[in-house]
Order: sequence, then C-alpha cells, then structure tokens
Amino acid sequence: MDHFQFKNGVLHVEDVPLAAIAEAVGTPVYVYSRATLIRHARVFRDGLSALDNPHIAFAVKANPNLAVLKVLGDEGFGADVVSGGELTRALAAGMRAAEVVFSGVGKTHAELIQGIEAGIGQFNLESEEEGYELSVIAHGLGRRVPSALRVNPDVDARTHEKISTGKRENKFGVPLDRAAEIYAALAVLPGLEMRGVAVHIGSQLTELEPLETAFGKVGALIEELRARGCTVTHADLGGGLGVPYRKNEETPTPAEYGAMVARATQGWNVQLMFEPGRVIAGNAGVLLTRVVRTKRSGNGPPFVVVDAAMNDLMRPAMYGAWHDFDAVAPSGERMTAHIVGPICETGDTFAMDREIDALATGDLAVFRTAGAYGATMASSYNSRGFVPEVLVDGDRFAVVADRIDPQAIMDAERVPEWL
Ligand SMILES: *Cc1c(COP(=O)(O)O)cnc(C)c1O
Repeated sequence: MDHFQFKNGVLHVEDVPLAAIAEAVGTPVYVYSRATLIRHARVFRDGLSALDNPHIAFAVKANPNLAVLKVLGDEGFGADVVSGGELTRALAAGMRAAEVVFSGVGKTHAELIQGIEAGIGQFNLESEEEGYELSVIAHGLGRRVPSALRVNPDVDARTHEKISTGKRENKFGVPLDRAAEIYAALAVLPGLEMRGVAVHIGSQLTELEPLETAFGKVGALIEELRARGCTVTHADLGGGLGVPYRKNEETPTPAEYGAMVARATQGWNVQLMFEPGRVIAGNAGVLLTRVVRTKRSGNGPPFVVVDAAMNDLMRPAMYGAWHDFDAVAPSGERMTAHIVGPICETGDTFAMDREIDALATGDLAVFRTAGAYGATMASSYNSRGFVPEVLVDGDRFAVVADRIDPQAIMDAERVPEWL
C-alpha cells in the first residue's frame, strides 16, 4: 500500500494534489511520501518479528536524500553505505555511526580511514586484500574494527544481469570455497575483529528461492568457521527484495521473506543484519513530469514527449525497466503512445506502444515507483540540470533537494588561461 491515490479524480501524494507541487516547484520533480516510507519501514521490520533483535540498515544508494535518511533513521534504521560520500550523508542525517555498515568492492584508503575514524559499526570486506589493508590502517590508529567477510555464493538471483551480484563471475565478495580459509587468516590480524559473514546476491529479486539457497550456503559456512575455531556472532543477509513496478505484479512480501529467513537461519545463533533499499523507498516516490508536446511520425502511435528524460530517471534506458505511467488528472480516455524524453538519444525512451491515459500538451503525469534508484542516478547529460526532490507529509510539503540549474553546473567549469 502507498499514499499515492486519486481523490476527486486527481492524483494526490498523501493530502497534497500533485498539481500544487508542480505549480510551486516546477517539473520534472521527484516527490516522496513520508507516510509511505514509514509504512514500508514498519512492514519490513514487522516481517522480521520472529527474529531476535535484527539489525536493519537502509541501503543509502537507493535514495540518499538527507530528509529520506532522517525519516528512516527516526524509524530506527541504520545505514548500509558504499562510499565515503554516503557515510557522510548518513551521519549528517543523524544516523549513528555504530549503526552504519560499509560495503563495496573499491573502498579507498581514504574511505577506510574515514570509516574507522567515524567509528562505524561494521566493515563488510569484499576481498582478502581489503582485509589486510584495513587491518594495517586500523592497527596503526590503535583500533580493532568490527568486520564481516562478504561471500559470493555463486547463486543466480534471476534478476537483471546488471543488478545480479552473487554469481561467481561477479566482482563482489570472496568465493565461497575459499571463504573459511580467508576468514581464518583475517581473524588473526591485529586491526580486525572478525565477527561475521555477509551476502547480497542482487536487487529486484522477485523470487525467494535464490535467497534461500544463498542463505543455506552461508549457514554451512558458519558451521565450518566455528568448527575451525573462528568466532561468528553476526550474519548480514543484504537486501534485494523486489517491488511491484506494474499494477497487480506479485512480489514476495516482507512477511514471506521474514518467514523464509527464520526458517533458513534456524540455529545460527547470530545477530542477523539486513540491508533493504528498494523495498523501502521504491514505491514511496514518483517522478512528476509535464507533457512538452505530442508528435506523430508515420502511421505508428504518437510520441508523447515529456520534460523528464533518461538523465533524470535512468532505469528504463539502463535496464529496460518498466515504470507505470499515469496522468495526474485522467479524463477517462485512453491512448496508445510512445513515451519519450527530450534527450538526443533513442535510448531516451520510457515506453513504446504503451496504453496510457490520453494526454495532451501541458498535462501532468507521473512515473511511479521512482523513489529508489531514481534521483540518485541522475546526470546532467545534454546540459540539463538536476531534478529537485520534494517530501510530502500529510497536507504539507517541502523541497528537500533544490533544482540545480545548468548554469550552476557550468559555473564549476573553467577555461584555462592558456586557451
Ligand atoms: C544495493 C545493495 C543493497 C540494497 O539492495 P536493494 O535491492 O535495494 O534492497 C544492499 N546491500 C548491498 C551490499 C548493496 O550493494
């Protein structure tokens, strides 16, 4: 359930009509619902209620907006970060360092220092080499840092290849068959407190079975580690739960996920950790756009050209992703059209031959399920600015990220005097 509903024939976010936001802030604009974020956070936590004290860290990369992080921090979520920039954001949003998990295959020397000095809760090591480097730095600073080893379970998550992370050929984690040996080697280093294992096999998973298979392998690894005398007190099961991008699409619920986790992790005797991103933020946001014009070419369906483009919402161009598209004030008439942005690439296409609400120049519409991997993936391609973000709370709303004009981007450029 979300708080993006039609009232008196016009689309509202909570109690705010989207037209009011378009008028105040302009388009395109991302609009998030605080009530929906809170609801998703609670449904996720409730799904894990059979577990003893699970640790939940929001995957910041899904939506790093400070106001979004504040909402989720207030719900008791920590943060899963994959860069120094995300760590800085999580702390700026008031999240506690001890609740932060640092993932990512390419943490730099400077980022490792940043994480140690901030006192984060756990480093998820993605390689043996990273473990040695982290230990040297931490030891030099007189610290022993809580760490987990990310394993690559060689499981096909059956999602889009670009967001699949748990197959042998993917860059993430250490191979399962070497994991125990690497863990044992890292556990004796002076700068590390090896306390657990981590796994994350991909995003937008629409079946639980690959996750359960991966968790089974992690369970066997924990047994093997303990048999070797290693200490394992934590297991980080990552994120990945998919969301419905189409009306009536079925995805596993957090309750079903939680029941599977409880079953798969029985007897592990660890604190379980989770890193949900998309399932919390995806359906808590829309991208509001206005039709620039419609045009016909040949005998095919018309093109509806909107003022949002692939630089604002990259998922369709990058992953061939589907986003439901609805008029803000539908007349009841329908049309078949291609939905495209203004960018000079054919890839700047949101949908082909889509049956949609009839739309004309100047009408407002939304791309749904744009709260995760939306604004954060934006670029300024074609010298377009960055889209603003708005957070709605009941009948009030606030701009939580300013529109960045092309002029401001240009102002950061220099022509050297020798030209
Ligand atoms: C991206 C990512 C997540 C979040 O994935 P979702 O599919 O958004 O839940 C969690 N953990 C790690 C390590 C990630 O890279």
